[in-house]
Amino acid sequence: MADPAPSPAAVRAAVALQPLVDAARRIVFFGGAGVSTESGIPDFRGQDGLYRQTYRWPPEVILSRDFCSRHPEEFFRFHRARMVHLEARPNAAHRRLAQWEQAGKLTAVITQNIDGLHQAAGSQTVHELHGSVWRNHCRDCGRSHPLARVLATDGVPRCDCGQVIEPDVVLYQDPLDPAVWAAAAQALAAADLLIIGGTSLSVYPAANLIDYFPGDQLVVVNRDGAGAGLRRQPSLVITEPIAQTFAALDGPELDGPDLDDPPLDDPPLDDRLAIDQSCSRIGRDPG
Ligand SMILES: [Zn+2]
Repeated sequence: MADPAPSPAAVRAAVALQPLVDAARRIVFFGGAGVSTESGIPDFRGQDGLYRQTYRWPPEVILSRDFCSRHPEEFFRFHRARMVHLEARPNAAHRRLAQWEQAGKLTAVITQNIDGLHQAAGSQTVHELHGSVWRNHCRDCGRSHPLARVLATDGVPRCDCGQVIEPDVVLYQDPLDPAVWAAAAQALAAADLLIIGGTSLSVYPAANLIDYFPGDQLVVVNRDGAGAGLRRQPSLVITEPIAQTFAALDGPELDGPDLDDPPLDDPPLDDRLAIDQSCSRIGRDPG
């Protein structure tokens, strides 16, 4: 089983959340790193001892535009080891959200994560505020390259034109993509239930997006509670693990993809590595 059975506390949390989900018709989910931790992707902000032995700089420094330009070898060493998680599979939260979208109950997922797990679970409308490691482009000519090309090299990945291939992820010092921001704001403005999951909204300016939500029903599912970034009173705060909680909600059975036995609808890794070719680069106008 990919997902642990829900604990009694997670079941109780799901019972509290269920009526809000049942009554909603335009759910928007806003997620952060905590959504992916139950898929085995650690939050890089939680620096462990191994991290300190391996890297001379904190992640906030390595993942900055200046650092990427000045120390590309170190940047890509960190990127391959810490940002790309090919082994990760969607958990029950990713899959439940994809089910709701398919059922016409959910209009959009907005995520700060760059791991592509919502799409891997089947979600169609995913606004990736911080981009995705699955898309990459040449710094100079803008040509798109698959992730496989980035992973196939040891040092700095280079385009046929000779320039550096960069992941389409928003680094510190980068502005957010205005088109992604606008689409996320539009979805929030039309939502009747907002579920914020796996984030304390501490990353500026994502917390500002929440202000676009006009509805009454706001739910937070986060181990650390609602967090200081939230400027209004939530209807419900759940501190149980999000995958366990979503697994306990009503709905079709969540057939968890297992690492040893991937189901047929889980795209093979080769396909996921190749999809980047069809994606255009994200515009990143300075300022
Ligand atoms: Zn190029």
